[in-house]
Amino acid sequence: MVFRVTNPASGKVITSVAAGSSKDVDIAVNAAKQAYKTVWGLKCPGVTRGRLLNKLADLLERDMDELAALEALDVGKVWDNAKNVDVGSTIAVLRYYAGWADKVHGKTIETNDKKLAYTRHEPYGVVGQIVPWNFPLGMISWKIGPALATGNTVVLKPSEITPLTALRLADLINEAGFPPGVVNIVNGYGHTVGQAISEHPLIEKVAFTGSTLTGRKILKASAESNLKVVTLELGGKSPTIIFDDADVEQAVKWAAHGIFFNMGQVCTAGSRIFVQEGIYDEFLSKFSAIAKGLGAATGDPFTPGTQHGPQVSETQFNRVMGYINSAKAEGATVHVGGERHGQEGYFIQPTIFTETRPDMKIVQEEIFGPVAAVIKFKTEDEVVEAANNTAYGLACNVFSENLSRALRVAHSLEAGTAWVNCAQAGEVCVPFGGYKQSGIGRELGEYALDTYTQVKGVHVNIGQKM
Ligand code: NAD
Repeated sequence: MVFRVTNPASGKVITSVAAGSSKDVDIAVNAAKQAYKTVWGLKCPGVTRGRLLNKLADLLERDMDELAALEALDVGKVWDNAKNVDVGSTIAVLRYYAGWADKVHGKTIETNDKKLAYTRHEPYGVVGQIVPWNFPLGMISWKIGPALATGNTVVLKPSEITPLTALRLADLINEAGFPPGVVNIVNGYGHTVGQAISEHPLIEKVAFTGSTLTGRKILKASAESNLKVVTLELGGKSPTIIFDDADVEQAVKWAAHGIFFNMGQVCTAGSRIFVQEGIYDEFLSKFSAIAKGLGAATGDPFTPGTQHGPQVSETQFNRVMGYINSAKAEGATVHVGGERHGQEGYFIQPTIFTETRPDMKIVQEEIFGPVAAVIKFKTEDEVVEAANNTAYGLACNVFSENLSRALRVAHSLEAGTAWVNCAQAGEVCVPFGGYKQSGIGRELGEYALDTYTQVKGVHVNIGQKM
């Protein structure tokens, strides 16, 4: 069985990719288990694991243009972003975890003079990893970097919408010299390959990035199989709050980046933009100018000067247009955009709505497209309450030149990431993850290492008599 891969800029099929089955997952898990026992895990020193991760990063650097081209073709990413953000950050993540590979260790713990007690941070063994389509290569690096550094072997499923860079990466993993069975990539659908990973009795941990709906299914599958540890990076409805005392020029640019970057297909998209009344008109006019500029620079991801590409697929295009149409029907005002761009491919104009109400679907639900709701507010208390009025808690952005206020508000918002006077400004060494229904556990930074190791307490009797 195969599935078709489409270029979202043209809507045309590029190629077909083999769709795995639950049997393929089983073969992959057994290969991963065998590799864990014989050549990886405790059989492979951390320094060697780190060297291999660095070698893989070298190969990605060598093939940066090719990988960026695949990502731009498959996802519709603007070429410069595919190269510098997607491939660039993938390399940075692999190098960061290469550095950790020989630095994960336990502690000795003082108890009494008749005992030596210490902890070991041991890998789980085989871990399952399931990733989405919005940053195909980047999300794989967030998953395999800490998993391999800590000595786990991996069975990974890319999104069936964007399988191409994962396939190329598999070649590079071989070329880097990772032993067979350490990384196993199985393409296929969620309800087959994804489900089989979530249920497999030999997989001790699953790390998932994707929608909250799928995250629930994975938790359920874990509960009903072998109670595997589950970490989830899920959806969001992140607020951007801009106070009267913000540097408006800067806030406008960051807010636009916050919602329109990657055509709004970012889990931390700042889709609810709260602007204090004193600067509302100025903000809206400058923000609209940026959205219109992006609209004018919409086109094929490979064309120089393009700043805004297509949505990833016809399904996503229809989903986002559905939200735009629902907002129109519910009485919101289209301030900019609100239509399809062109006749070919899945392009949507950068869109700004005003005059929204808190109960509207575009204010409540994750859109995952280039659609912002700009909302006027009066007081700090009022905006904190409105911003927290969501089931999600992934990120927030706060703009104010009064640092006391900016930090007070950042600390009051229910979100795993707070960006102060910036947006979409992640760092590989800073943990990332969600509050509320945006997730369980943390990725990136030192914190991710904890989610790929289990702690054993060892008690050694050095003199206590029975
Ligand atoms: P999705 O949940 O539809 O799919 C994600 C992955 O899960 C895909 O590989 C898919 O095949 C697989 N899958 C689907 N059904 C499954 C099942 N029953 N069992 C196991 N696996 C299954 O999400 P998507 O549309 O690919 O991505 C968009 C979503 O991802 C958005 O909600 C976005 O917010 C979220 N996301 C979150 C983060 C984060 O770090 N928090 C990052 C990127 C994307």
